[in-house]
Amino acid sequence: MNVLVLNCGSSSVKFQLIATDLDLIAKNADRKLARGMIERIGGEAIITFRAEGRPPQRFASAVRDHRAAVDQILRWSCSTEANIDAIRSVADIHAVGHRVVHGGERFTRSLLITDEVLRGIEDCIDLAPLHNPANIRGIMAAREILGPGVPQVAVFDTAFHQTLPEHAYLYAIPYQLYRRHRIRRYGFHGTSHRYVAYRYRTLRGIAREQTDIITLHLGNGCSATAIKRGQSVDTSMGLTPLEGLVMGTRSGDIDPAIVDFLAAKEGLTTQEVEMLLNKQSGLLGISGLTNDMRELLDEAREHDDRRARLAIEIFCYRARKYIGAYLAAMGGADAVVFTGGIGENSPDVRARICAGLEWMGLELDQEQNLAHTNGREGLISRDGARLAAYVIPTDEELLIARDTVRCVLAAEEH
Ligand code: ADP
Repeated sequence: MNVLVLNCGSSSVKFQLIATDLDLIAKNADRKLARGMIERIGGEAIITFRAEGRPPQRFASAVRDHRAAVDQILRWSCSTEANIDAIRSVADIHAVGHRVVHGGERFTRSLLITDEVLRGIEDCIDLAPLHNPANIRGIMAAREILGPGVPQVAVFDTAFHQTLPEHAYLYAIPYQLYRRHRIRRYGFHGTSHRYVAYRYRTLRGIAREQTDIITLHLGNGCSATAIKRGQSVDTSMGLTPLEGLVMGTRSGDIDPAIVDFLAAKEGLTTQEVEMLLNKQSGLLGISGLTNDMRELLDEAREHDDRRARLAIEIFCYRARKYIGAYLAAMGGADAVVFTGGIGENSPDVRARICAGLEWMGLELDQEQNLAHTNGREGLISRDGARLAAYVIPTDEELLIARDTVRCVLAAEEH
């Protein structure tokens, strides 16, 4: 089955084309056919298309809206220019899998998109006012262009965390506010944490119920998840993706009283403060230089920039604190797993996060730590360490494609 995986943001659409079915899933032999991205939708967009094994094509072109973006992606996919063996016309696209950011409390797993599911995604708009409308636009665009005969599946960022127990997801605010406004911890990056947990148990050859790990997704957005017996039991992002670890431009945890204090001192509205905490904080805010960890590491190394060093230190300290908290919450774990752009590629950051955790039984193997970059998967702690450490590159698109196949086949059986 050829699956188009769509990840629609407010002004961008990322996509992958993946050939997969139950047999290929079992053999871990799914085929990536193409990928790409359309950025700055609504104006002169920047388009990157790449068929597997060939150099990327990058160009600018006016793209009016999400429908035009999906249309352009489909036309390219079927073109002689893309020259993808398995795809000669739109009839060769068998299903579409969508990343949907917020599934609220209603969606606990991936689902075939029916009118009812679509209404449910709409109901979650007030929880994710920027993201869910973009996801809906992507769903509508694919439905219009491909027709109702091509099944579409929603894969929710929040679904994996719906196993959180009450004591982990409730905030200590008046309980009726949870009832009235559904204010609680939802958590995000669920598809990534779930994929990484699946790869970990495959590598170890263990069952889901034996999977007791802490996963650290460190990319532009960052989150930690405590996974006990294969289920998410706590996670660092909250009602929104602002809570938790220090991120590229997001503050993560702060004293909530800062919002009002800042608004009064700087003459800002609370919306402006929220914007500041989302877009101008984190690594960027502390360093005053960049939200990009690689650039910060270069700055710290080459110019010994004090604020770059500080940003890296605060980032790693917060991550280490979460490891400690989750070990306590879970009653111990077998491994810490690093993923995301920073987690997969920076031995330096991994070493700083793990520094001082030897007493917990976490000791990195320096050589293995250095050797695991650029997509290499495996163990980076010393043999026999009581708390192991792994690098496992994430692949949310692959999991979305696989969920899409499973949902479509399950629906066909009924
Ligand atoms: P997103 O969350 O947008 O998917 P990524 O997972 O690609 O982003 O992560 C982007 C982050 O990964 C950036 O901060 C980038 O600097 C960092 N990164 C990528 N490669 C390296 C590297 N070799 N060393 C340190 N950081 C890196």
